[in-house]
Amino acid sequence: MLKWLVDEELAMLAINTNKLISESDVECIPKRVQCAIIDETIAVGEIKHFFTTDGWTAVQQIINAKKQRATWVCPVCSEDASTKSICCNRCLEWSHFICARVNVKSKQWFCTICKLAAK
Ligand SMILES: [Zn+2]
Ligand SMILES: [Zn+2]
Repeated sequence: MLKWLVDEELAMLAINTNKLISESDVECIPKRVQCAIIDETIAVGEIKHFFTTDGWTAVQQIINAKKQRATWVCPVCSEDASTKSICCNRCLEWSHFICARVNVKSKQWFCTICKLAAK
């Protein structure tokens, strides 16, 4: 699911611009893709062919910067959400179970912001 989001987004970008994704394009990629890109389940090498050399360097810098940020911040309470939290299927932000008012890990979950946006 996460992998699909990333590939789809980048593929669309490559198709829309009809060229490889360059360094300046990387900065335009939505935040949710930047979060998705460091997900453990994604083999980032698979999307490398969508990028120019500069573009790929920029992506790797984003990945490194994100990995150095050891904690995920819950958008509800602004506290560390690295444990007891759930990931939104749309924006890929992590929220605490308590803040999100959920108590089971469901396959599909959307945060309040995304729920409102979907309406
Ligand atoms: Zn929270
Ligand atoms: Zn969300």
